[in-house]
Amino acid sequence: MCAAPIQVPGPAQANKRRSFNPDWEVQYFFSATITDTGKVVCLVCFKEVQVKKYNIERHFKSHHAAAYANLSAERKSEEVARLKETLQTELETRKEQAVSEI
Ligand SMILES: [Zn+2]
Repeated sequence: MCAAPIQVPGPAQANKRRSFNPDWEVQYFFSATITDTGKVVCLVCFKEVQVKKYNIERHFKSHHAAAYANLSAERKSEEVARLKETLQTELETRKEQAVSEI
């Protein structure tokens, strides 16, 4: 497999943090919220994926495109809003589990 590229924080990137394009939320069903591990979460299956368009797009296309790609823009927005609420509950459950495991 190929090695992950080394991230060098340059001055140009410093104030940009990570680059999640807000459009990806509706386009690829990913939450714009960056997790503690610096990833974004798939709204459909809660999988964490690196904040890179390639990874996000590939995840959506290989796992969820069949179910979601053909929805109208309006329906997508509705689904994203609904899934975001579900994700919120999921993340809170994870936090509780993490605390109880310590
Ligand atoms: Zn997914």
